[in-house]
Amino acid sequence: MSTIISLRTKWTTNITALKIIIGLWFHLTNHKLLSSLPLMRTINDIFPLLDKPVNIAITTHQKPDADAMGSSLGLYNFLIQFDHDVTVISPTNWAIWVNWMPGAKKVIDYELQKQKAEAALDNANWLFCLDFNNFDRAKKLAPKLAALKCLKILIDHHEAPDEQNFDYGVSDTTRSSTCEMIYDFILASGYKDKITTDVAECIYAGVVADTGSFRFPSVSANVHRIVADLKDKGLLHTPVHEALYDNFLENRLRFIGNVLLNRMEIFYEYNTALIAIPKSDLIKYNIKTGDTEGLVNYPMSIQGIKLVALVIDRDEERKWSFRSKGDFDCNAFARKYFEGGGHFYAAGGRSSDSLPETVKKFKQVIKENESQLQ
Ligand code: 5GP
Ligand code: MN
Repeated sequence: MSTIISLRTKWTTNITALKIIIGLWFHLTNHKLLSSLPLMRTINDIFPLLDKPVNIAITTHQKPDADAMGSSLGLYNFLIQFDHDVTVISPTNWAIWVNWMPGAKKVIDYELQKQKAEAALDNANWLFCLDFNNFDRAKKLAPKLAALKCLKILIDHHEAPDEQNFDYGVSDTTRSSTCEMIYDFILASGYKDKITTDVAECIYAGVVADTGSFRFPSVSANVHRIVADLKDKGLLHTPVHEALYDNFLENRLRFIGNVLLNRMEIFYEYNTALIAIPKSDLIKYNIKTGDTEGLVNYPMSIQGIKLVALVIDRDEERKWSFRSKGDFDCNAFARKYFEGGGHFYAAGGRSSDSLPETVKKFKQVIKENESQLQ
């Protein structure tokens, strides 16, 4: 093991020097070819190291959804079979509807158990970052992740990865979900036999959630082949759907009724719908993390709607979600106007403005984007 670590230290030093030189060269020359050079080593280089036990931390984005938690726990249930010491750390709390996932009880909430999480991170030889590609998405955990000296590995499908912060990795925006990528990672590693039903359930959950139950354009033949293979391995898919979608309390349905009736505005001239949820609604209906998941999709069912925006007045910020159809790029929109990003058809953002202020800004900027919304 010490050989691996010393080799790694040497490699990390070399790669860091290389990154600095490439970065500097790019900065000085603005050279297009160099800017497109991958700064991470390929994920395949990890495979020969998999069977030598090390300490591993896995983390993901704040408020992990089914893909974030599914990929983290899918990978966890795969890696523990090699006797690695694996700890999954979430930057924040998460929705109760992922608690059924095998291993979920062992996940550490950084905000609740900071010391325990930091000890695991300090001990880690490897850090996997899943379903996010920029440390900022880990909120309060971000500075800790950035400061860690261990080997950092990215597996993600969002736009604009911060590649210079990772030693190894794969970033593929054509993938439906990070869970799809975890399946591909396991397959390519040669350890297909380690896809247990625990691994399969976690992977399936993330694929279902991030594909809108197999309806989004990101669903490829590969996705259906994965599901076929998981079924061959004994996956029971109905309990996964029920755990994700039939697992809420009455208050959430009443809340949705209220939101659709009172908080939704349609701008037919821009083929856009907006839902703005004040804090008072969250309190009145006792809304918890995860209860607002999927809400942004409702107005998408209205004929002709190309863009849906949902903003929720959270304590620390106003959190935006965007969904689109056709040729409207949510990622670019979120990045340009709302400090966010994500994918072409699904993105998120934030604002420090008040709810009325940020809503006002949205109404202005959709006017600027009128031509793309026709
Ligand atoms: P959601 O609207 O479901 O929260 O997020 C949609 C997609 O955008 C997800 O893939 C999510 O990870 C990403 N996303 C959400 N909020 C942000 C953000 O503030 N910044 C970035 N870069 N991505 C986000
Ligand atoms: Mn995802």
